[in-house]
Amino acid sequence: MAQDFLLSILIPVFNEEKNIEPLLKRLLAAIKNFRHEVTFVDDGSKDTTAKIIKEKAKGNKNIKLISFLRNFGHQQALTAGYQLVNGDCVVTLDADLQDPPEIIPQMIEKWQRGVKIIYAKRVKREVDGFFKRQTAKFFYKFINFLSDTLIPEDIGDFRLLDKEVVAFINRLPERSRFLRGLVAWGGFPAEYVEFTREKRFAGKTNYTFSKMMNFAMDGITSFSIKPLRLAIYLGFTSALVGFLGIVYAVLGKFLLPSHWVTGWTAIFVGIMFMGGIQLLTVGIIGEYIGKVYQQVQGRPGFLIKEKVNL
Ligand code: UDP
Ligand code: MG
Repeated sequence: MAQDFLLSILIPVFNEEKNIEPLLKRLLAAIKNFRHEVTFVDDGSKDTTAKIIKEKAKGNKNIKLISFLRNFGHQQALTAGYQLVNGDCVVTLDADLQDPPEIIPQMIEKWQRGVKIIYAKRVKREVDGFFKRQTAKFFYKFINFLSDTLIPEDIGDFRLLDKEVVAFINRLPERSRFLRGLVAWGGFPAEYVEFTREKRFAGKTNYTFSKMMNFAMDGITSFSIKPLRLAIYLGFTSALVGFLGIVYAVLGKFLLPSHWVTGWTAIFVGIMFMGGIQLLTVGIIGEYIGKVYQQVQGRPGFLIKEKVNL
């Protein structure tokens, strides 16, 4: 096969010291037939991850490193990487060997036929716990119900992007980076390669429950303003109920004076109902205002400490 293209591999790493060596071994074997560069984005690791990568980069100029000043998160690490890689196509994968590098040649084959996005689709997810699988399923149902962009299920950040799509991603000025949504939003032709998700090789997951919640909220608020509309409908509904309550109370006072003191339950329920709806809608509005605020502040999504071989 004529290899006149450059393949970029992009790997975000956060405290993955035990995974670098075995990952590189499998990865380099899988892509040895392609002209390649392997770029790690160290997302503020506290262990020896960066040191190990630097050692590797000394002996192999195709191995590159971007180090962040601190932890800015997985999506920001990918964002930074997309801006600095040079490949004609870019494959992103996790460092913990949950994404098998052996399927990369299949992705490249599809790419060479002109497909711009090739997603790696998880066919089996037994290795992820029941809770993670169910919450993920619910999340995709929910976000696709709310959003006009169809965000594919069972797709992570293991994918191949043509450089055209990478350029498109790099042009998007938004601060909040729900990348799998942004990629889908572009509407480039996409295909799938299936794989079985493996167990994390070493270390433990960096996605805590609160990080998963933040990720989900980011995804929803970046891709839909329907929750704001929902707030309006809730407001209308409660106003209607409130109005009926007023009619009831006023009529009751004049027509059935003897019943009047028994209204305590209705008042209590009304207050609780209104209070709940008000908090909910103010919360929804606040979430979007927070997004606007962050965007207006214009702070960078990440800060780079050093670059090696770049
Ligand atoms: N990661 C990162 N920054 C973070 C958390 C994770 O760069 O703040 C990287 C991590 O090193 C791994 C990938 O993102 O390569 C996926 O993370 P993890 O395996 O913890 O997530 P899970 O597979 O459990 O969803
Ligand atoms: Mg993982």
